[in-house]
Amino acid sequence: MHDFDVVVIGAGAAGMMCALRAGQRGRRVLLLEHGDAPGRKILISGGGRCNFTNLGCVPERFLSRNPHFARSALARYTQHDFIGLVRKHRIAFHEKTLGQLFCDGSAREIVAMLLAECLAAGVDLRLDHRVADIAHGTGFTVTTQRGAFAAPSLVLATGGLSIPKMGATGVALDVARRFGLAVVEPRPALVPLTFGGEALALMRPLAGVALDSIARCGRAAFREAMLFTHRGLSGPAILQASSYWQAGEPVTLDLLPERDGAALLLEGKRARPKAQPQTVLADLLPARLAQSLAALHLPARVIGEIGDKDLLRLAALLKAWRLLPDGTEGYAKAEVMAGGVDTAALDQRTMMAKAVPGLFVIGEAVDVTGWLGGYNFQWAWSSGWAAGESA
Ligand code: FAD
Repeated sequence: MHDFDVVVIGAGAAGMMCALRAGQRGRRVLLLEHGDAPGRKILISGGGRCNFTNLGCVPERFLSRNPHFARSALARYTQHDFIGLVRKHRIAFHEKTLGQLFCDGSAREIVAMLLAECLAAGVDLRLDHRVADIAHGTGFTVTTQRGAFAAPSLVLATGGLSIPKMGATGVALDVARRFGLAVVEPRPALVPLTFGGEALALMRPLAGVALDSIARCGRAAFREAMLFTHRGLSGPAILQASSYWQAGEPVTLDLLPERDGAALLLEGKRARPKAQPQTVLADLLPARLAQSLAALHLPARVIGEIGDKDLLRLAALLKAWRLLPDGTEGYAKAEVMAGGVDTAALDQRTMMAKAVPGLFVIGEAVDVTGWLGGYNFQWAWSSGWAAGESA
């Protein structure tokens, strides 16, 4: 006789959603969390306001070795389903930009909502439970420092490796490997990029400067703000591009989106020949950046005395500035982990391991990574729901 029907490990976004859905179906659910509070990443998300989903959530906005895997779960529990839940709990929210929905108040309201739903569904949530061992026989037995619990279904919802100081562990990957499930090599994603040499020498004094840009990496392109940092580049456009970045590849920046840099510089020269080039450039770019780029790429003369060729060369750079990152700021700064349990090992409708009946993997631990802007929580809700429907 099993103590529970389902044991879910990890009371984060995906684990709570899975537990509440399985509980609603009448399953006896145990939700184990090694931290002293549930949903800690939800609390710090979106600057404390939790960007809980995105109105424009479509499967194309997720990265995975199998780009079709997420379709089924995303279609069965959509952003509109989650918005319905948020409305039912009378949580006020707004669209900030690009379909991103945030709480008006605090991310605490989302955690409180999930806890209330878990409570109503009879979920047994236990904090401070550290998983020491998982044994598999007729079902699964999970041993913690506070006792062992058995159930025919086990759900791994322990998230990814980002922000280790908040209790992130690779336990889902370790357990998956032990059960023979393949793992797509994990890497930090939605993460600032670092640079060295001349590029960093230019960027470091510009730390804090932000501007509208298009960041391109391979075939991916994101138009959003970018930010110079002491170690390189950050800001939404860069974080988005970072998920597509592979070591050794360049990132290309358009610092004048939808503007004709060449025409603007030549027109500036014609209209104000006695102006310093950085003054003309500062009409197009933040002043500090204009000054650095002018000093680096143009002769120290008034713009009227600078040849068109030099201006056109600078304009080409502003439209397609090719930069070679030397790395990322790693899991300490990454918003998510890309890679994870290989989707080939999982059933896309249920998230159950094809070769290990009763074992489920959901959320960030799976090789499905969303864009910045609420997509990662939507994956946690959708995959959690899918597993909760069949565990
Ligand atoms: P988590 O939410 O990380 O939950 C995993 C849970 O498992 C945690 O409670 C952890 O303590 C627990 N756990 C780990 N190991 C064990 C173990 N061995 N035993 C028991 N429990 C364990 N995404 C968005 O969509 N919108 C945002 O606004 C957003 N903002 C973010 C801001 C920051 C700073 C960060 C770091 C991430 C942000 N994300 C955001 C990403 C989002 O938080 C994650 O994608 C999402 O939380 C993943 O859900 P999950 O349930 O898979 O994992």
